[in-house]
Amino acid sequence: MIFTVFIIGLILGSFLNCLVWRLYKNESIWGRSYCPKCHKQIAWYDNIPVLSFIFLKGKCRHCHKNISWQYPIVELITAILLTLSFYNVFGLPTFYDLAFFNSSYFNLDNLLLIIRDWIFVFTLIVVFIFDFKWQEVPMLLVWPATTLVLILNFFIVSDPSTVIISAVIGLSFFLIQYLLTAKKGIGEGDIWLGLFIGAYFANWQILLVALFLSYIIGSIISIYLLKKNKKLKSKIALGPFLVIGSMLALFFGSNLLNYYLGFLTCC
Ligand SMILES: [Zn+2]
Repeated sequence: MIFTVFIIGLILGSFLNCLVWRLYKNESIWGRSYCPKCHKQIAWYDNIPVLSFIFLKGKCRHCHKNISWQYPIVELITAILLTLSFYNVFGLPTFYDLAFFNSSYFNLDNLLLIIRDWIFVFTLIVVFIFDFKWQEVPMLLVWPATTLVLILNFFIVSDPSTVIISAVIGLSFFLIQYLLTAKKGIGEGDIWLGLFIGAYFANWQILLVALFLSYIIGSIISIYLLKKNKKLKSKIALGPFLVIGSMLALFFGSNLLNYYLGFLTCC
């Protein structure tokens, strides 16, 4: 089962690579894949996640130019993160669960959770690559993803007001900084990203854990980069750190929070 999920993850990772490129180029997502260098269409057997890259030795079959390492790496990372979040929701199935399609294992609650989590993880990976490469947040993906996550959360979370509170905090956290810093440092995209992350977590405490982790990691890496190269200053985007912080909060957020709250009560 986990293996099947991993394969689905690889296929979604391959789709993700193509989506990033087409969002950037403003193209339809429905056309066939093509080589970005010679524009020849890629046959299905040259478009198998990871394997094709290995068989083609990282070169296009037609123009023999190098295929970016980004493709297989993104496919693998997508597959790993989607599999982890599947495991997070479903745990490991027993033989009984699979053989009899056990309805308490594949229940509606879990299905809603995994759809929401996969939309979240998938969108965050796209945002990471996009913001890292072009210092921009792909709103054409973030807006529909936010809408879907909000709708799903109204079914998932027992008290809908927590979804709204968390979303509003996520949005205002960046909006206030945006207004205070006179639009320098924080981009408009970060405000929408804040809304997306807040809407997803539907829990202001875990949202704060995500923001806290993002800023800690962001500061450490920025200081390191600034020491190495002072010119980089204006080029460091916030988005990739928000993605890393949110991913960590997704997998470890409630543990970290409980640990922190436990620490507070014992002292
Ligand atoms: Zn080519």
